Amino acid sequence: MHSRRKAAPTVIDTVRREIQMPLKCYEHCCSSCIALANLGKIEGVIPILHGPQACAFGNQMGSMFCRPSRLLTVGTTLKKSEVIFGGEENLKQQIINVYHQYTPKIIVIISTCVPQLIGEDVKGIITELQEQIPELKVTYCETGFNHPRSTPMGNDVSWKAIIDVLEPQEMVKNSVGLLGRAGQDADSLGTLTALLREAAITTYAFPAGHLDEMAKIVKAEYLCPIQLVPHLTCRRLSERFGSVVRYVEIPAGVEGTSRFLRGVAELTGNRNLPAIIEREEARVVPRLRTIQARFTEERVRALLVTGPSNEMSIGKILAEFGVEVIIVPAMRNAFARQEQTILRERYGARITFHEGDFDTVAQLADLYKPDVVFADFQGRVELVHRLIPCLINENYLNEYGYDYAVDFGEHFFETLGRPVLSEWRDMMNLYGEGRYA
Ligand code: SF4
Repeated sequence: MHSRRKAAPTVIDTVRREIQMPLKCYEHCCSSCIALANLGKIEGVIPILHGPQACAFGNQMGSMFCRPSRLLTVGTTLKKSEVIFGGEENLKQQIINVYHQYTPKIIVIISTCVPQLIGEDVKGIITELQEQIPELKVTYCETGFNHPRSTPMGNDVSWKAIIDVLEPQEMVKNSVGLLGRAGQDADSLGTLTALLREAAITTYAFPAGHLDEMAKIVKAEYLCPIQLVPHLTCRRLSERFGSVVRYVEIPAGVEGTSRFLRGVAELTGNRNLPAIIEREEARVVPRLRTIQARFTEERVRALLVTGPSNEMSIGKILAEFGVEVIIVPAMRNAFARQEQTILRERYGARITFHEGDFDTVAQLADLYKPDVVFADFQGRVELVHRLIPCLINENYLNEYGYDYAVDFGEHFFETLGRPVLSEWRDMMNLYGEGRYA
């Protein structure tokens, strides 16, 4: 018999032993990127990105997937010397340049990590400039160091910055303000505002495509957020204009939408809305029942990892279909806690919230063995070789109202591309000894 001698440790073995910190993957982009995308879309607003050149470039590129490419990007492109001695003069000059060249209604300074780190007095610069140019309206948001929930926070801090400089307008009794999340919500709020306006409820939508439209939010007596994100925005509106914040629930899915609308009817004492809800339910519930029957035949377990808060709304729609849902929540504010309670009570063991930290999406997939994952782009890289369908969170926004839910349910299995995946799996089982993952 040969005695087996242990091989001497290699350099890689030594490095592996010494690595204490596990590989961290990430599911959120920078808050500055989202702030730039949001603010840049609103007519009448110009954002100035206050940070180093590479930060401005990265955020400009990163935000292009969801903003018009012709959008002007203005930055201060801080240099090393300004990091040491301060970039206030540079910022001041850029504000003056933008104002004289474009005369926007509002300039928003997006204060990135570097100015925050060196403690720049952005507020002081604003005060000084307003003394020089009284008609200038300039505000700022702090977008550096917002991790780990930087994508949704980018929305909330940029909207709050706008609220800070809105002028008061007369409040309209029993009116409702619907507060969404990202700039994309501006295009999808119609699905709710149309029903509320049909019921003769004065309704204001925030965000909207034009600043003048957005500014009307200050007239709302009640603020009903439709997502978990605009928590700071609602609080600031309430502080400045005395509106009452009432979180009902996310109006996603059939039941979620009906309960949200009933909540608004109750709040405003409106008598027309219940009949409209009944009419809408009569239209969509038969389709929902067909979807639920399909999900009973084919059981699905879905893992939804920290989207820009849509992990909660898409998870809610899926749970209504009968899917077993595991949600890794992005938000932990009061709205998020209330929504979790609602979902736990409504769907019981069908919903799990994974609150703990995680290193990779693949690690979560090992734990929960999902049939489908909703995650960001990194998740697809990690899961594609395991043949787990990975749907990109960013593509599942605008998720409000009845029609989104039933349309999503009716096309769900088609979207998964399951015939291709199972064909490939069968082939690998037959010829590759099942080593496809
Ligand atoms: S994390 Fe900070 S430095 Fe990096 S891009 Fe965002 S704001 Fe700039």
